[in-house]
Amino acid sequence: MPELPEVETVCRALDKLVARKTVQKVHILRDKIRTTIPPALKKLLPGYKIKDVERRAKYILINLTRAKSPSLTLIAHLGMSGQFAVAGGQKPRLREKHDHFMLDFTDGTQLVYNDPRRFGLIEYAPTEQLGMHKLFKDTGPEPLEKTLTAKNFYARLQKSRAPIKSVLLDQKVIAGVGNIYASEALFLACLHPQMSAAKITPAKAAELLAAIRLVLKAAIKSGGSTLRNYKSADGITGLFQHRFKAYDREGTPCPLKNCKGEIQKIVIAGRSTFFCPQHQKKSC
Ligand SMILES: [Zn+2]
Repeated sequence: MPELPEVETVCRALDKLVARKTVQKVHILRDKIRTTIPPALKKLLPGYKIKDVERRAKYILINLTRAKSPSLTLIAHLGMSGQFAVAGGQKPRLREKHDHFMLDFTDGTQLVYNDPRRFGLIEYAPTEQLGMHKLFKDTGPEPLEKTLTAKNFYARLQKSRAPIKSVLLDQKVIAGVGNIYASEALFLACLHPQMSAAKITPAKAAELLAAIRLVLKAAIKSGGSTLRNYKSADGITGLFQHRFKAYDREGTPCPLKNCKGEIQKIVIAGRSTFFCPQHQKKSC
């Protein structure tokens, strides 16, 4: 499933590929994904111009404007297998199986949403009301935003006695960290994944926030390098080859210098968790 860095990578690529394009026509080819794609989009979007594409948690936000009209935001989630592709120019893209949604632009290009497993989502909201939208009203701060200070993060952790690993996956506490990066950040911050969030000290909370930022930024950086657009390859997937230190490395020696531990796998709240029992202790 795409996590924050993959979604960020997709947003940056889409922003480069579709910003400033004007929607001419909306096609809803198969409307049932996780929810029904709103049929109102067909009438609503033509004439709107894409202002930019940004990310909130694991959602892609395509912001659109039109003179004398309220700004709109298309909200997309890739689910398990969703992909956006930009096609077009002189050779329009042939319809493919699992194409669900398509925008024709006035310059002859197209933006296509393809999703074989159909766990994705496409909705919309007036841009001004986005913060109040049901998908976002309870979402915590973005980990990469400077407005999230170490002090604020510490205060958020203090509210829960649950294992820190689960708390990092709680979207109300912090948006979009995800299963892989929670394991990686705890590894770097030398924190045991089962440690109660409320027991973490202010200094450790600051270290953990820095570790979260480090792993997310590194993943975004490597994600960007493997991105391709539809013309040259098979869609904007945001897949990347990232070398994890703990995640999915059960039974291998801890890659930390001077640590003789071995990576273990445990399950916390139903999710696989990888850590090194040697340098990630409950007492630290
Ligand atoms: Zn270790």
